[in-house]
Amino acid sequence: MIGLIIALLSQVFPHSYDVKFYGIYLTIDPDPDTIFGVGEIRGFAYGGLDSVDFHLGSALAVDSVRLNGSVVSFRRLEDTIWVSGPVPQDFTLEVFYHGHPTAGLYFNYWGFFSACLSPDGVKDAHQWYPCYDHNGDKADSARFAYTAPKGFDVAANGILDSVVDHGDWKTFYWSTRYPIANYLIAVSGSNYYVKFTDSWRGMPLWYYPFTYDTADLRSDVQAVPDMLDYFSALFGDYPFIDEKFGYAESNLWGGGFALEHQTLVAMGTYWVTGTGYHILTYAHELSHQWWGDWITCQDWPHVWLNEGFASYCEALYAEHIGGIQKRDSLLNKFKSQYFSEDAQARFPIYDPPMQYMWGHTVYKKGAWVLHMLRWVMGDANFFSALKNYADSHGGGTAIIPDFQAAAEAVYGSSLDWFFQEWIYEAGYPEFNYNWFVSDAGGSYELNLYLRQVQDNAPVFIMPIEIMITGATDTLRDTVWVNERAERFTWKLSFAPSGLAVDPCEWVLKKIRYTEVAENPVDEGFLFLRVLTNPVSSRLSFSYCLPEDGAVSLRVYDVAGRLALDVFSGQASVGTHEMSVPLDGLRPGVYILRLRSKWGSLSRKFAVY
Ligand SMILES: [Zn+2]
Repeated sequence: MIGLIIALLSQVFPHSYDVKFYGIYLTIDPDPDTIFGVGEIRGFAYGGLDSVDFHLGSALAVDSVRLNGSVVSFRRLEDTIWVSGPVPQDFTLEVFYHGHPTAGLYFNYWGFFSACLSPDGVKDAHQWYPCYDHNGDKADSARFAYTAPKGFDVAANGILDSVVDHGDWKTFYWSTRYPIANYLIAVSGSNYYVKFTDSWRGMPLWYYPFTYDTADLRSDVQAVPDMLDYFSALFGDYPFIDEKFGYAESNLWGGGFALEHQTLVAMGTYWVTGTGYHILTYAHELSHQWWGDWITCQDWPHVWLNEGFASYCEALYAEHIGGIQKRDSLLNKFKSQYFSEDAQARFPIYDPPMQYMWGHTVYKKGAWVLHMLRWVMGDANFFSALKNYADSHGGGTAIIPDFQAAAEAVYGSSLDWFFQEWIYEAGYPEFNYNWFVSDAGGSYELNLYLRQVQDNAPVFIMPIEIMITGATDTLRDTVWVNERAERFTWKLSFAPSGLAVDPCEWVLKKIRYTEVAENPVDEGFLFLRVLTNPVSSRLSFSYCLPEDGAVSLRVYDVAGRLALDVFSGQASVGTHEMSVPLDGLRPGVYILRLRSKWGSLSRKFAVY
């Protein structure tokens, strides 16, 4: 059902008007869990419209609708409402409504809490207030008046303009002058809130813990000013610096819920421990103020722009507080989480299936994709690409190609290949590798064979660092892989004793060392083995090619003279066995040599 709604909304976007402003003026009564009031939508109509549409959950009754002050008739089909009549270019809709919301705004013992993204939904804003429920159309500003029974403290987006006491009830007037997406509008009210405040660069930090968690939240948010400093330095100043930042405790879905409401993150009870244990979750939600709130993914197929980014911000903050080791141990955890989800269902990061929208492929592989982009572009370019993206789309919405363009503008060339394989296609590379050294009298030639053996995924193009070590020397070099099977050669002045592929683990992958020289391999690596040794009349051997291609097989004597031309021509991928007569070969030691574009192999045998 959710899927149908999404499909419907996606088709009608861009719609016929631009939302300028939302006003939500509600009385929220936790006894008996009802809301009543007015939702205001101000819009700018493109061209002369004879009707205007918006969304409101069908659980809520509409008492009347006014268009520019006059009561108008309306038609309702499930969650969509159409208002008829000539629509002025600048119009204001006021929707008088009441009822018990079945989603979007939830009541429980601790109070009432909004959540427009739920574990099984992405568009629940209209389930509690009238709006055009699509990320693609952010309001330029919003104003809220929430009236709740005395004793409740009510937190919302932006700044608190005033509180008016009516005796048994209080009204909290909040407003924001920043653009805001529907799902980031939040209200949170509890008679157990104990607000405490702090500040950063003169901007208020407001926190709303439950009574029993006051000390714990105070301790958990100690690092918030440092997070704001750190992310502001990396991405540009905290976007809502004229208003505030804060966390409001919530206990939806067992307390595990956290949502990046603009300027007021909802933090589930689970995350409030007083130990700082979940500091990276606080960083994740705070970083969403840039990635998700300031720049909102235009529609959910582009959710990576929100969640991959915020997940990578966990890694960045880990690097900030604990160095590369802490960052890499987090990325390692992300990798296993992604691998386990990928084993159940493989799909691209772009346009993930609904049930995996909030899963490890989008979040954890998504974080890795940014880490790899940082490796491809280099630190300076990568971070200026993020700034460039924030500057060019801040306050609005974006799709993945917008971020790609911002990155390419800094990088100076196309990154299509990167986005194609990591965002629009599924899976990851699985490498088999092997390496050989030949001693050329004082100098050494090292051949590294790399083969991508993944199924159900493309052949990946990536720069990969190779580290070759000797007794006292180390060589670090970066090669570009772009074929299924490849060989890389180094001439070395030292005897290599070790080789590491991607020693700093910049690339999301699985990798396995395979013995290709001495053992048959089913992966189809280059391989040659003599099956009859010593031999008298017929030489049998087997060889394996990594791909279709040209190969030559010749027998030489120990002096290097050609003794027998066995085969020269095209051969297919895989293992081949051959048996050839050795007519005319005198007893002695010979060498069977295989030459191919993947390298050369030699095997000794004796004729008696
Ligand atoms: Zn997130």
